[in-house]
Amino acid sequence: MSSIIRQDMSTKDWTIFSVKRAQRPHDYKGSKKKKKILEKYEPSCPFCKGNESMTPEEILAINGGKDWSVRVVPNKFPAVEYIKGSPEGSERRHISGPYLAIDGIGHHEVIIESPWHNDNIVRMDTTHVEKIVRAYRQRFIDISSDHQNQLVIIFKNHGKRAGTSLDHPHSQIVATPFVPGYIRNKMFEAQRYYDDFGNCVYCDIIKHELEDASRLVYDNDKYLAIAPYASVVPYNIVIYPKKHQSCFAETTKDELMDLASVLRTVLKKLYDLLDDPDYNFVIDSSPVDQSGNRHYHWHLEILPRLSTRAGFEIGSGMNINSIFPETCAENLRNQK
Ligand SMILES: [Zn+2]
Ligand SMILES: [Zn+2]
Repeated sequence: MSSIIRQDMSTKDWTIFSVKRAQRPHDYKGSKKKKKILEKYEPSCPFCKGNESMTPEEILAINGGKDWSVRVVPNKFPAVEYIKGSPEGSERRHISGPYLAIDGIGHHEVIIESPWHNDNIVRMDTTHVEKIVRAYRQRFIDISSDHQNQLVIIFKNHGKRAGTSLDHPHSQIVATPFVPGYIRNKMFEAQRYYDDFGNCVYCDIIKHELEDASRLVYDNDKYLAIAPYASVVPYNIVIYPKKHQSCFAETTKDELMDLASVLRTVLKKLYDLLDDPDYNFVIDSSPVDQSGNRHYHWHLEILPRLSTRAGFEIGSGMNINSIFPETCAENLRNQK
């Protein structure tokens, strides 16, 4: 058999594994592209310490004042924009013949992860990474409290192939006034599993992965990181809280250090093994108004950009992966 097709039990999505030969880590290394050498300070960068006046007004700063360590500002070129007193509900929906459009109102913010232009999560102390995830949590909770926001997405684009336009380390938060189909489908499948089996599908995955351990990359007291059974791309990693939590806002303050530790450890392993690959990560959480439910379980998904989505993937919504997650997990476990 030249390939095997695996199903993700949480989404019912399929991935084709077409693994021709033993894949070695250097087959996936990001080193083919030339990396820019960055300075600690870049005069034209709006996110650098000293250039604070180049950004819109600050929303949040951890260790505020001139010696801030993490800063949150509105995105200067927002995909959706917060407008005070904007129309709500049906007023912001526009019908044009058979077509529907909604005003692009929401939130789009940037989390500046460090004062230093050439910084990287993998080189930060865990205490600094804790400040980043603390800012994520704070903004997630604040933005969620606005009843106009249905879905809050936190994400990071690292490197050109991941779609970043600024080198300064940063992540983003976008809140939308409705739940898009992709998330609706994930929620639906999780609900169906709960109805059939009486358990959260993610809790069942976590229990199995901790027992089986072949796809386990790293775990600590409160979180685990695995290469999922039906990984959609090479070195796809998902971080889950071990305890059932449907919404990222349910994360408690005393869990943030463990979250920072698992995130930093996994990104460092990827950095060292694959020579600083481009990647996206995204926090996938229950929509705001469904917080506290029993069937969904928030997670942070890391998708390295080592392969390109081509015609088949676009046409089918299904991925072809050239390496098994068991191999990826073993390579990452061995990467100290
Ligand atoms: Zn900068
Ligand atoms: Zn769960």
